[in-house]
Amino acid sequence: MRIHFTAMQKLRSLGQRCRQEWRDFKLILYSVFYNELNNYSTIIDASFEPLYWFVDNFTRYLGPLFVVLVVCLTTSVVVIFYICLLPEKYYMSLGWTIYHLIFGHWLLVNIVFHYFMGAFTDPGQPPESIPESVSICKKCIAPKPPRAHHCSICNKCVLKMDHHCPWLNNCVGHYNHRYFFMFCFYMFLGSLYVTVSAYPLFKIHFYSGMEPAFHPALYPLNLAHTTLMSVQAEPNPPSVEKKPTEEDQSEWKEEYADRLLHYFIIYEFMLCSGVAVALAALTSWHARLISLGQTSIEVHINSKEKSRMKRKGLVFRNPYNFGCIRNWKKFLGLTHGRTFFRHVILPSAHCPENNGLQWETSSYKIDSGGLLLI
Ligand SMILES: [Zn+2]
Ligand SMILES: [Zn+2]
Repeated sequence: MRIHFTAMQKLRSLGQRCRQEWRDFKLILYSVFYNELNNYSTIIDASFEPLYWFVDNFTRYLGPLFVVLVVCLTTSVVVIFYICLLPEKYYMSLGWTIYHLIFGHWLLVNIVFHYFMGAFTDPGQPPESIPESVSICKKCIAPKPPRAHHCSICNKCVLKMDHHCPWLNNCVGHYNHRYFFMFCFYMFLGSLYVTVSAYPLFKIHFYSGMEPAFHPALYPLNLAHTTLMSVQAEPNPPSVEKKPTEEDQSEWKEEYADRLLHYFIIYEFMLCSGVAVALAALTSWHARLISLGQTSIEVHINSKEKSRMKRKGLVFRNPYNFGCIRNWKKFLGLTHGRTFFRHVILPSAHCPENNGLQWETSSYKIDSGGLLLI
């Protein structure tokens, strides 16, 4: 009994000692890292900092490669269209060829123009002195105008920043937002146009001489199955001893050209249909934001603000939302007598209506003398 009592006492005092040590350790830890502004979101932000650093640097260095990739893929699609698809249409009818030449080139000119304008137009940076400031940028140690945000990839503040686009290797902001959106829209139209134009040929080439193993609509599965089968059934290489005749050589060349055409058409359709689906989602998301007068960054800020105000029993109203039609007119720059045909359907390098430093809101209007209450 006595032995048991002593052991229990020792265990209890050890437990007390451990608890005391833990309390002391926590106190030291808090006293070293204590900051009255600390909260869980700050801790989460700080712990993700290495990941942000990696993504920022990764995007910065991969940006030029992404631009080269966009240029190469677009060029390959256009070249295949000229070589493999347009001649097919040409033999079909002259009317269709004229239609394809006009419509296709209108899309191509718009895609190229908006892509290069989006990639090489400076999105806009706040100058040293600004007429209106809403906060201070912690990284630039400079005042920030309304709607401006700091881009950690470009390492500068950007006027009406939407996001940093790796495909353009540029920030999307006040001066190139329209180019970015129009590029997405025309690229979507272009991909859809090529997908639809290539579909009849794709169907013939894809299932030529083979029975689909799966449902005919499951193209990727059927493609994988066919490739596997063709690898297994690879014929023996031609005998080295036998000298190929001229006839044989021309036959091989023809066969090679046919195979190339076959793969080009499949590549064209697969690439364009995939891009069309991805861009449909991206373009409609951005179109929705523009209709509501928000940028991709503001949509998050506004939704937080909305729930904060809801808790207080108030209703949030986006100050930059002037209604769908007026938002689009402002975004497309269709003010001062500019027309839809000249400035949207045709490539246009017109500037936005304001300088990105002061913004008209649904309560304030910009006049020559500054902001006026309306
Ligand atoms: Zn900044
Ligand atoms: Zn940027």
